[in-house]
Amino acid sequence: MDGKNAIVTGGAHGIGYAIAKRFLSDGARVLIADIDEKAGEAACDELSDLGEVRFIAANVAERLDVRNLVANALDAFGDIDILVNNAGISHKADFLELKESDFDRVLGVNLKGVFLCGQSVARHMVEKVENGGDPGCIINISSINAVVALNDQIPYTVSKGGVAQLTRVMALALAPYGIRVNAVGPGSIMTDMLKSVVNDRDARGKILSRTPLGRIGDPAEIAGIVAFLASRDASYMTGQTVYADGGRLP
Ligand code: NAD
Repeated sequence: MDGKNAIVTGGAHGIGYAIAKRFLSDGARVLIADIDEKAGEAACDELSDLGEVRFIAANVAERLDVRNLVANALDAFGDIDILVNNAGISHKADFLELKESDFDRVLGVNLKGVFLCGQSVARHMVEKVENGGDPGCIINISSINAVVALNDQIPYTVSKGGVAQLTRVMALALAPYGIRVNAVGPGSIMTDMLKSVVNDRDARGKILSRTPLGRIGDPAEIAGIVAFLASRDASYMTGQTVYADGGRLP
């Protein structure tokens, strides 16, 4: 990844942080975009020994923030080779109790955010290809819940199913330019998001019982797959979602 420029949304914590760390270790420059300004600045400080890393505060669900984010990346690096749409949120509620505002909020970040960032960065990548430059690639972070429904995580499950299809249509639209779009669908990975759901022994036991490998995953194990999808080794792959879920079957 030497000399490559990457944007990682939601890179202040969890899986996004691990992806930023992996990219920096592999020689890329990284712009972390996150709504959590304090954690984003702290992540930048922690990772700065590994390479060139910057932070911008941005809400991926807001068009103007996304426009500003892309302009900032181009100012800082002059180019964008890799976009990782990782920012995501969840909301626990039963179907009959679920509020419209919570449905909209989760879909706004998890699905519309992928569309807004993907379209904005893709426009730059297409222009680059038309001017003789190398095509870039986009990696969306989906979830095993794109294919396994959870009855108390309705907007989350719906949004991740949407990300799988959005990955396919983006891949079709951008294939003529050589721009690849793939997704990773993690199972249970130990991050703040999971800790908010697995807050007792029963919940942890339930996850382990449905995970054949018998353990919760580490964010670095998702970052490794993202690094592969961003590499030349994945040059003939596009439109795919790779599930990394400890062997859980739908
Ligand atoms: P996390 O909560 O640890 O990190 C999410 C990051 O996204 C945070 O830094 C947060 O500040 C940021 N963020 C939230 N809303 C944002 C917004 N509107 N704009 C910009 N940034 C925003 O969660 P995580 O577990 O690291 O999740 C990362 C991705 O992986 C998400 O898309 C999530 O759905 C997906 N995922 C996680 C798991 C898991 O078990 N942890 C499983 C499957 C998929």
